[in-house]
Amino acid sequence: MRFEPRQPKEGINVSDTHPLVEAGTLVVGLAAIFVIIALSIIFLIEAALYYVTAEDEAKLFSNWMPDDLVTVAPDDERLYQMQLLVDRLASHWPESPYDIRVEIDDSDVANAMALPGGLIIVTQGLLDQVESENELAFVLGHELGHFRNRDHLRALGRGIVFSLFFAVVTGDDIGGVGIKAADITLRGFSRRQESEADEFGLGLANAEYGHVDQSWRLFERWDTQDSSMIDLAIYLSTHPDSGDRVIKMKQHAELEGWRLQGDVKPLGW
Ligand SMILES: [Zn+2]
Repeated sequence: MRFEPRQPKEGINVSDTHPLVEAGTLVVGLAAIFVIIALSIIFLIEAALYYVTAEDEAKLFSNWMPDDLVTVAPDDERLYQMQLLVDRLASHWPESPYDIRVEIDDSDVANAMALPGGLIIVTQGLLDQVESENELAFVLGHELGHFRNRDHLRALGRGIVFSLFFAVVTGDDIGGVGIKAADITLRGFSRRQESEADEFGLGLANAEYGHVDQSWRLFERWDTQDSSMIDLAIYLSTHPDSGDRVIKMKQHAELEGWRLQGDVKPLGW
């Protein structure tokens, strides 16, 4: 039999599948891998919470601070007063393993957050909006509630996952996984976690003042204010809708039989 040389068929190296379908498969595949990695990290953090006690966490992070946080001067009177206030509130939670530290973030956007090791960050923007010690006490008490339920660690895990993802996608360096992670973190809190933190915070306010007057006054003002106030967008994106929140807090206080009226303390600065 004679060998007849033949050209191979045209396009032998080209797959039969349409290139868009192939690109799609690649994207879906990468997304699936990312989701699997993300879920594994979240799962590992949940698992770690069983083994890393709050006491361990308090020790591990006792001096930790996000590197991208810009704080106010250390001799700021508000910082001093707020630390005294949070210490008073925390004294009504004697089982707490945390040595709560307060820092003021030099940002005009109203926000407050709970970070590992018992660090509470309150922004200048939020301090500008509070009008009495009782209002501030509730904001701090709410953050203490996140520590009690360890929401801050769960959400931080998610925050880190998202920061890593953004770093990969945008090509940013991941050294700055700090406040960015913390910020996304707070978006991760569920409604249930938020209302449990509210109830805990109310309980602390009641223990401290003997009533819950003005605990939700800040949110009442926000609820009636023009919603175009962009400053509040961040706080509201990380916390429940002010109107709903006020109703729920009032209901909880009534259920517990806490006094709704009492002496209101002015801010200490
Ligand atoms: Zn919260």
